[in-house]
Amino acid sequence: MTRSTETRREEYLPCLYCGQRYGPDDVALHTEPVHCGRCITCVDKPACFDCRLMYCVCDVHQYRG
Ligand SMILES: [Zn+2]
Ligand SMILES: [Zn+2]
Ligand SMILES: [Zn+2]
Repeated sequence: MTRSTETRREEYLPCLYCGQRYGPDDVALHTEPVHCGRCITCVDKPACFDCRLMYCVCDVHQYRG
């Protein structure tokens, strides 16, 4: 148990948008742009993105508190 100094690279990088690490199964959810088109803040963001805009009408990105 003496190899703690070895820097282990993360298997998966955290998502730019939601900060979660994702595996191959969720790649599309975190990287594939969703052309929701209604809201300029979240258009072309992946599905995991939560739009904080108060008046966002987007079904995909609308923040669900
Ligand atoms: Zn994400
Ligand atoms: Zn959207
Ligand atoms: Zn939005």
